[in-house]
Amino acid sequence: MAYKISDECIACGACAAECPVSCISEGDGKYVINPDECLECGACADVCPVGAPAKD
Ligand code: SF4
Ligand code: SF4
Repeated sequence: MAYKISDECIACGACAAECPVSCISEGDGKYVINPDECLECGACADVCPVGAPAKD
């Protein structure tokens, strides 16, 4: 089970900078996580200002 970014995302990019495996990229209006690479470390959720990343 990977983390997933909800529609609350305001595309600030903070999570992508913190992800240890660089599996977060900018998508269409929000950032997206590649579920095949996510380690479920939670770093993205810790830095997100709006609580968008959560376990899928
Ligand atoms: Fe990256 Fe960790 Fe977030 Fe997965 S949980 S997307 S590995 S920062
Ligand atoms: Fe979106 Fe949160 Fe990532 Fe910023 S830190 S790009 S608001 S998921």
